[in-house]
Amino acid sequence: MNSADILLSKIQQQIKNTDLSGRFSVRWEIIKLMDWVALVAGLNEARFNEIVQFSNGIQGLVMDLSRDNVGVLILWNMAQLEIGDSVESTGEVMSIPLWEMYLGRVVDWFGQVIDGGAKFDGKYEMWVIEYPAPWVMDRKPVNRPLETGIKAIDTMIPIWRWQRELIIWDRQTGKTSIILDTFLHQKNTDVICIYVAIGQKNAKVKQISETLKEYWINEKCIIVNASSSEPAVMQYLAPYVGCRIGEYFRDRGQDVLIAYDDLSKHAIAYREISLLLHRPPAREAYPGDIFYLHSRLLERAGQLNETLGWGSLTAFPVVETLEGDISAYIPTNIISITDGQIFLDMDLFTSGVKPAIDVGLSVSRVWWAAQSQLMKRFASKLRVQLANFRELAKFLQFGSDIDADTEQQIHQGQIFTELLKQQKYAPIAVYQQIILLYAGINGYLSDMNLGSISQREKTLLFELETKHKDLISQLKDADTLTPALEKEIKKLIKNTITLDTV
Ligand code: ATP
Ligand code: MG
Repeated sequence: MNSADILLSKIQQQIKNTDLSGRFSVRWEIIKLMDWVALVAGLNEARFNEIVQFSNGIQGLVMDLSRDNVGVLILWNMAQLEIGDSVESTGEVMSIPLWEMYLGRVVDWFGQVIDGGAKFDGKYEMWVIEYPAPWVMDRKPVNRPLETGIKAIDTMIPIWRWQRELIIWDRQTGKTSIILDTFLHQKNTDVICIYVAIGQKNAKVKQISETLKEYWINEKCIIVNASSSEPAVMQYLAPYVGCRIGEYFRDRGQDVLIAYDDLSKHAIAYREISLLLHRPPAREAYPGDIFYLHSRLLERAGQLNETLGWGSLTAFPVVETLEGDISAYIPTNIISITDGQIFLDMDLFTSGVKPAIDVGLSVSRVWWAAQSQLMKRFASKLRVQLANFRELAKFLQFGSDIDADTEQQIHQGQIFTELLKQQKYAPIAVYQQIILLYAGINGYLSDMNLGSISQREKTLLFELETKHKDLISQLKDADTLTPALEKEIKKLIKNTITLDTV
């Protein structure tokens, strides 16, 4: 007998001697109920992420498989459950219906209508919410820009339709407004917009929904709402549901922009669930798999190849920091997962520079390639001059004499800062931004009082839209600044200056 045979016979003997009676006769029942989490004993064959059925028809989601019990997230009506209620596994995983009817609606984490309008009706198939990210051969790096309509972003932090661009900073610094403005700008594009509200106040979500209606863009937007009044379980599930809905449209060859507002609250919801499930807390009491939670969500953004229909999913995750601490656990994780970051700045915001984007820190890792040569030419100058200006401005707070050269740099910086200010709900097209940048960079605004720059901007764009249709089509098509194009731009600016009385 060789050693393998000896081992085998020992195992067989051991099995023979083990009394298995009773092992499978444990009743499957709830042994502990916590905040939307149930511990179930005896559900031996339960699988991770499986849906289970409680005795009174309520469903649960298996989240934790321990040796002696199973941790289940309760999906609704927690109040109706009691210790001792029986539980059955179903062999199903969490799924939602997928259909076009989501467009223009507000739905919950289960894909159900919650906007007070007609409920969904019709035949549907259920689709799993944890769908795999497209693998590398299914993706194709075609680079089509996603215009936001926000001057500071389209000029200096341009974004592609597949990118994951993080919007990050403290409370009340304009994060959600950047998303909303970008959505409004899609009115004239074919991009579908999905807003996933995680732990937001219902009143704020309602306001967003109203604004989308007011600007006639609602029909191409979907809101998935798991508000702050919903249990942590729903806040945890909402982004995966939103993402699955986005993938449905992407797989039909459409371009989708999805905003997760915000993933800090998502992480807090998951931490709450994990602590109830007695998972060991790690850094900042978050469970060790928190990185995977967000990476598996954001990896699902991407551009599909020709065979799969050219659809794309662009993701705008939002993270809220505490006093600008980007070295905290969740901000560092998500910064490392994303392809670029828009950092906001509280000082800029309070001093009236809105959107309060810190152009020195913010990046889009593809910025050099996502722009036309024309925009790139202006944008690099703008970025350098603004960064210099902000450094100088900080330095000058301490009061020191400045030479004429520095004074000129400061003046130019102030002009650019004014030029990049933008009211909310007022996105503008990239071809319009080019005109403004040309005027700013070539000194056409230098003699002006700073307060009148926004008026000058309005006049310029009005002139462009009403009297220079040819120039608009040239700007839309142009990749470089040809002498003929430059002549036209100059003509527009000079005409406007003489017309302008400010
Ligand atoms: P929170 O942390 O509460 O989610 P936030 O960072 O998402 O806040 P917003 O809600 O977008 O910030 O904006 C905060 C306030 O600033 C709002 O009242 C909004 O209307 C205002 N605001 C944001 N951007 C602009 C802008 N460009 N022009 C004028 N007001 C703005
Ligand atoms: Mg917000």
